[in-house]
Amino acid sequence: MFKAIMIEKDESGYRATLKDVDESQLPEGDVTVRVSHSTLNYKDGLAITGRGPVVRKFPMVPGVDLVGTVEGTRHPAYSVGDAVLLNGWGVGEGHWGGLAQKARLNGEWLVPLPPQFTGQQAMAIGTAGYTAMLCVLALERCDVTPDKGEILVTGAAGGVGSVAVSILSKLGYTVVGVSGRVEESDYIKSLGASEVLERSAFSSAGKPIARERWAGAVDVVGSHTLANVCATTKYRGIVTACGLAGGMDFPASVAPFILRGVTLVGIDSVMCPSAERLVAWQRLGRDLDTSKLNLITNEIGLAETIPMASRLLDGLVRGRVVVDVNA
Ligand code: NDP
Repeated sequence: MFKAIMIEKDESGYRATLKDVDESQLPEGDVTVRVSHSTLNYKDGLAITGRGPVVRKFPMVPGVDLVGTVEGTRHPAYSVGDAVLLNGWGVGEGHWGGLAQKARLNGEWLVPLPPQFTGQQAMAIGTAGYTAMLCVLALERCDVTPDKGEILVTGAAGGVGSVAVSILSKLGYTVVGVSGRVEESDYIKSLGASEVLERSAFSSAGKPIARERWAGAVDVVGSHTLANVCATTKYRGIVTACGLAGGMDFPASVAPFILRGVTLVGIDSVMCPSAERLVAWQRLGRDLDTSKLNLITNEIGLAETIPMASRLLDGLVRGRVVVDVNA
């Protein structure tokens, strides 16, 4: 038996509870992992609370991230005792995920734990941090170098935002954060932002095009915020869009694209090809200051993930939440 958060949906409604599960119930897969840590991402919050249609099969163990040790394997790339991590691939949505003491997975989804990180640190990064790195890689691919100008990061006190600010500042970029929590300005500056702007300056309908300021941007918010970020991006600047914390809509005009040559780059972490994931994790090992990770991280036990999920979606959680599944 092992402990897991289980999401069920039936005539009694939608609910998440901590359960004891028999190992024989684990799904198909060629690698069994003894999980040490998982995390709570925005998507896990949607799954646990049922506030968004994330879960595609019931019953479901949520958790899009996990780290642990291989306990059984039929996959040629992995041996018993290997330290591995997993982000995405629909795990925690359509295949049992990481908010459990055990997981059975497709070996193709796994990434060897980078030697620079402990399991706890890898989950402090998690999908949020790996997505932040994918955004940074996209900016670099489009030649946004530190000398080009300021980079805007929205939702800066959240998971993706906190890691994005940390990486970009370490790489020498001038970073401006956007946050709805003025009380977190000092926190965001401690991660490396030079300035923090109030969320309200971006969150309602703005002009199709406005004064140019950003060489690049990492947007986790979507909706009017993303439209306003595009409208204030400099000539030939790059906006990476990875989130919908403010809404799934995109009420924008084409003006920034056709008058300023702005490029909007979509970022998806879930089905991102393995080769790019490995690059992202290598770069995290090099370009993320692990002392900043301590500032970013809160740690909780498995049972606490259920109340924490609502707080996360309400924008009340700062940085990243690591889950010690054995606590
Ligand atoms: P968090 O909840 O940790 O952070 C989101 C932050 O967005 C909040 O902390 C808050 O920052 C800001 N925010 C919240 N609500 C609103 C709102 N209504 N309007 C404006 N800003 C808001 O989530 P994550 O960092 O884990 O994820 C952020 C987004 O990125 C989510 O939408 C998530 O689904 C998406 N995502 C996408 C991935 C992909 O593959 N494309 C992968 C990972 C995440 P503050 O208080 O500073 O304003």
